[in-house]
Amino acid sequence: MEDNRETFDHSDTIQEERILTFMESMGGSNTPFLQEKEREALAEDIPIIREQTQSLIRFLLELRHPKNILEVGAATGFSSLFLRTYADKDAKITTIERDPERAERARLHYREAEEAGVFQGTPGITLLEGDAADILKTLEGEYDFLFMDAAKGQYGNFLPEVLRLLSPGGLLLSDNIFKDGEILESRFAVKRRDRTIHRRMRDYLYQLTHDERLQTLLLQEGDGAALSVRKSNS
Ligand code: SAH
Ligand code: MG
Repeated sequence: MEDNRETFDHSDTIQEERILTFMESMGGSNTPFLQEKEREALAEDIPIIREQTQSLIRFLLELRHPKNILEVGAATGFSSLFLRTYADKDAKITTIERDPERAERARLHYREAEEAGVFQGTPGITLLEGDAADILKTLEGEYDFLFMDAAKGQYGNFLPEVLRLLSPGGLLLSDNIFKDGEILESRFAVKRRDRTIHRRMRDYLYQLTHDERLQTLLLQEGDGAALSVRKSNS
């Protein structure tokens, strides 16, 4: 039996790879500027949104036309420039990054976009530098699209503030929920030092799927993504 399972797992993986390759071959391409930024980020091992997640975000932007977007985890700015490219022109985009070097690089990339004339004028992205645990508390107003893409073990800590900021009908997209497949493993199969994050991500997913105010879909896209909508009567 064990041997059979091995064989099945193996062919499943090949099948999954074929599906992924096929779907990616059908994907539309980004603007040249985004393509260049994507190449740069990947060359530096910055964990930017994967292709399938990009398609998902583009779809959601077109479906909902959010006007006030908040991202947690800017890194070097690829995804915020991506959002800027495909969101409505009058959408406000705010992003948070705690790593000073990455925040500086993001600002540089925003300037590059301006100099290359990619957008009319500056990209107009508001970058808030600091820990989201502090910054989220200071934000006011309602966001109709929230992209959670920071330290995976902290999503749960951010959730109360995120729910305060998410408008009724607003979308919350949480990226990398599978952490390269690790979250799917039994906690005993996970290295001791990774167990905390394993437990926290599972708790977070439990909260998303059991909170009365949310309706949540868990998706396989990219490294796994949770798509939640805040119920309009909540
Ligand atoms: N959204 C980016 C990738 C983000 S990578 C893109 O797709 O292009 C995750 C980023 O979150 C890292 O740069 C990390 O420094 C930042 N981060 C992690 N924890 C954070 C926190 N508590 N507050 C703010 N930023 C955080
Ligand atoms: Mg991500």
